Amino acid sequence: MNRFLCCSWYLAITENSKYILMQLFSINAGHFKLDGGAMFGVVPKSLWSKSYPADENNMCSWAMRCMLVQHENRLVLIDTGMGNKQNDRFFSHYFMHGDHSLDGSLKQLGFHRDDITDVFLTHLHFDHCGGAIERNADGNFVPAFKNATFWSDENHWEWATKPNSREKASFLSENILPIQESGQLKFLKGNELFPGFEVERVSGHTESMMLPVISSNGKKLMYMADLLPSPVHTPTPWVMAYDTRPLLTMEEKPLVLQRCIDEERVLFFEHDNSIECATLMNTEKGIRVQQTASLKEMGF
Ligand SMILES: [Zn+2]
Repeated sequence: MNRFLCCSWYLAITENSKYILMQLFSINAGHFKLDGGAMFGVVPKSLWSKSYPADENNMCSWAMRCMLVQHENRLVLIDTGMGNKQNDRFFSHYFMHGDHSLDGSLKQLGFHRDDITDVFLTHLHFDHCGGAIERNADGNFVPAFKNATFWSDENHWEWATKPNSREKASFLSENILPIQESGQLKFLKGNELFPGFEVERVSGHTESMMLPVISSNGKKLMYMADLLPSPVHTPTPWVMAYDTRPLLTMEEKPLVLQRCIDEERVLFFEHDNSIECATLMNTEKGIRVQQTASLKEMGF
């Protein structure tokens, strides 16, 4: 290859990675309720209840908002919500409500779960991965996406399959082990699923949670999972009581959020009851929300 050809080849590659085109879709897998105190940790109710009103049992309504990423011949689902295979006693703790479901949201976009090529699991807490598994006709637990590769992090998998007593109620073996038994599990090595789909790992909420950073059409979006369940959690001390290492979250969160500002990333919220996306800005008080909008309004 002569020098000119070599340079133009290099430029084409750089330009391509800058202008990768992906279709992103917000997939609402349903709403549930969690205790407001658990969701806001040490923050007093007099502060958080201004943004998140609680019911008579101190429960607030939260979304399980997944994301579908369409790129070339791949259709990647990020997280799955909690699914519907558990018994009534389990669901009685979580007050599922509203009309949204994973299958319904996929259908509305003209997709079916069998079209999914990759299920990317940020972490293995039940409200993020329960929908990955269903019961078959024989009552056995099997992957609910028969044509998909399931992506997890190896350190997180180790952590989740030997759960500590704090997270035991969130890591349910029936949500996790059938993925491996089916042969559909892969561990993501490095920081990229494919060009334009990069991953950052944080370990304050749980060990090695993976947060996708997606580039499309010159814009960047970060899927916040449980590092920032809602825009209300933006100030550093607003950390969920569920976090296993809250002091580490308080170190990781401002670093990740500052990268979001520096790279003009749009933030996508898995759990906010109604807000899909936000941008951030630096203020005298620290990092704060600049603007909230839907995924479409943000230009994706
Ligand atoms: Zn979690």
